[in-house]
Amino acid sequence: MDEVKHPKKPFIYYYGIVLVILLLFNFLAMPWLAQRQVQKVDYGTFLDMAEKQELGRVEVQQSENQILFTNKDNTVIYKTGMMPDPDLTQTLKDSGAEFEGEIIEQANPILSFLLTWVLPMVIFVVIGQYMYKRMMKNAGGPNTMMFGKSNAKVYVKSSEGIKFSDVAGEDEAKENLSEIVDYLHNPSKYREIGASMPKGILLVGPPGTGKTMLAKAVAGESNVPFFSMSGSEFVEMFVGLGASKVRDLFKQAKEKAPCIVFIDEIDAIGQKRDGRLGGNDEREQTLNQLLTEMDGFEENIGVVILAATNRPESLDPALTRPGRFDRRVPVELPDLKGREEILKVHAKKVRMDNNVDFSRVARMASGASGAELANIINEAALHAVRDGRHLVTQSDLEESIEVVIAGYQKKNAILTDAEKKIVAYHEIGHALVAAKQTNSAPVQKITIVPRTSGALGYTMQVDEGNHYLMSQEELENKIATLTGGRAAEELVFHSASTGASNDIEQATKLARAMITRYGMSKDFDMVALETVQNQYLGGDTTPACSTETQTEIDKQVIALIRRQHEKAAKILEENRDKLDELAKYLYEKETITGEEFMSILNA
Ligand code: ADP
Repeated sequence: MDEVKHPKKPFIYYYGIVLVILLLFNFLAMPWLAQRQVQKVDYGTFLDMAEKQELGRVEVQQSENQILFTNKDNTVIYKTGMMPDPDLTQTLKDSGAEFEGEIIEQANPILSFLLTWVLPMVIFVVIGQYMYKRMMKNAGGPNTMMFGKSNAKVYVKSSEGIKFSDVAGEDEAKENLSEIVDYLHNPSKYREIGASMPKGILLVGPPGTGKTMLAKAVAGESNVPFFSMSGSEFVEMFVGLGASKVRDLFKQAKEKAPCIVFIDEIDAIGQKRDGRLGGNDEREQTLNQLLTEMDGFEENIGVVILAATNRPESLDPALTRPGRFDRRVPVELPDLKGREEILKVHAKKVRMDNNVDFSRVARMASGASGAELANIINEAALHAVRDGRHLVTQSDLEESIEVVIAGYQKKNAILTDAEKKIVAYHEIGHALVAAKQTNSAPVQKITIVPRTSGALGYTMQVDEGNHYLMSQEELENKIATLTGGRAAEELVFHSASTGASNDIEQATKLARAMITRYGMSKDFDMVALETVQNQYLGGDTTPACSTETQTEIDKQVIALIRRQHEKAAKILEENRDKLDELAKYLYEKETITGEEFMSILNA
C-alpha cells in the first residue's frame, strides 16, 4: 500500500535554532567588529598629533575617562586614556581640530544599522523560508506545521493491498470482520433497519498472529481509506499534545468517512487509570480524549475503529464498555489446519519443491504464531541458498524449524567422548520414557548435535493432530518424560550433570500449574492459587494464597515431580538393554529419526 508520511519535527524547532545563532552573532561578533575599528594609542601620540596639527575631530569623554579622536581625513578613529591636563582645551584649540563633548560615530551609521538590524532579519527570514520549503516538501501539505497534529499514516488503496485471502487461518476473526466490510460497502442497508455497527473493535491475541494484517485486510476488502497509528505515537513529552492528536485524527477520519482508523498497541494509551502517584498525566489525558471522541461521533457515520493489543486485561474498563470498543475479536495462535494454511500462503512467495509435506511441517511447528511460520519459510529459503540449491525442500523446512526452536547448529563445538555419551543417554532417556508411556506424543527426531541456544541435544516429539485439552495423566507423563534424561544419567553413570537444567525448569512449571491453576491436587480442590497475568505475553503468574499455602504447594510440587522421576527411572531400568542399544546407535549417528528409534525399540 502507498503510504503518506507526515513530518516529525515542529516548525518552531528550526526557528529556535536560527534565533540562537542570531543572538550569538549580536553578542559576540558585533562588539568584536566594533572594537576592531578603534585604534588604541598612548597619550604622547595624541599630544604629538595635536602639535603637528594632524587631528580631525576630537571628543573628550569625561565620564569614560577617555579621548576619542580621528586623523585629518576622518578615516581612522583613535582612542587614548585621559591625563590630568589643565591645558588640554588650549592644546586642542592650537591644533586646529574640531573638538566637542559629543560622541563621535564609531562607524558609518548606515553600515552599523545594516549590520545590527537588517542583516540578522534577512538571515532570519531566508533560513526560515528555506526550512519551511524543505519541510513542506516532506510534509505534503501546509496543515502539518502545527503542534498536536496526528501523524497518522494514511494507506490509500493500491494494487497490492492486503486482502482476507492473504490472511490464512483465523476464520472466525475473518467472519467477524467481514460484517464490518459489508457495512462499509453499504451503510444504508444497516441504517434502514435500525441496526448500528459497533464503533470500535478490539483485536486481541498473542504477538505475530496477524492482527495488523487483519486490520489492513478489512481496509483492503472494503476499499476505504485506512488511518493507521500506533498507540505509542500519541504519547508526547508535553501534556495535552497526545489529546490534540486524537482530536485531529478523528477530525480527519470524519471528513474521510467511511473509513477505518487502526490503532496498534492500544495498551500504550489505554491502560487502566489507577490514579497511582506519579501516574502519567499525558497518557491519561490522551485516553480521556479518545473516550470523548468515541462517544462524540454518531453511530452509522461510517467510521470504524479497529485496535490491536496483546494485553487486553490491562485496558481501562471505560474503553471496553459497550458503545466504545464493544466487540472483541480474538486472534489466537493458529491450530494445525491454520498453521498449514499459513505455511502455504507464505510458501507461494518462494520456490518450493513439489513434494513438500506441509501438514508434517505444521505438526512439527506446534505452538508457532503466523509470524514465526513466515519466518520458518524464509529461514528454509535462506538454507536452500546457502546449500546452492534452487528449490526449497522438506529438509530445509525441518532444519529451519529446529533453527527456530533451538538455534543454529554449532559446527565447531567439540564435545569430549564422555560428554557425548552422557548427552546420548540423556536424550534416549527422554525418548524411551515418552515411548513407553501411553498418551505421549510420538518421537519425531533425536539429535545430539549442539545448537547455538546452548542445547547439547534434543528430542522432538510431535503430536498427531490438534490438542486442545490435556488430561492429568498426559501432564504427568510429560513431567515423567522431562525427568527421563536425568533418570538415564543416574541409572548409567550414577551421577547428575548440568544438562537437565531446562528440563527441571519446564517440569517445575508444569507441576506448579497442575496444582495451583488446574485444580489437579486433591488437597486444594478447585481453588485458584495463582492468577495469570499477561495471558498472551508469556503468562507470568502471581500467587493468590497465604504463605502457609505456598509452603504446602511447594511440598506438593516436589512430591509430584519426585513421583514422576521415580516412574521414569523404573521405566528405564526395565528397558536397560534397549536404552544401551539406542544410546550407542545415537552416539554413532548423532541424529536419528523417530522411525529408526521405533524400529530398534520394537526389534
Ligand atoms: P500482530 O499485529 O498480531 O503482532 P502482524 O499482523 O504484524 O502480527 O503479523 C506479522 C507477520 O506475520 C505478517 O506480516 C505475516 O507475514 C505473518 N502472519 C501472521 N499471521 C498470519 C496469517 N494468519 N496469515 C499469513 N501471515 C501471517
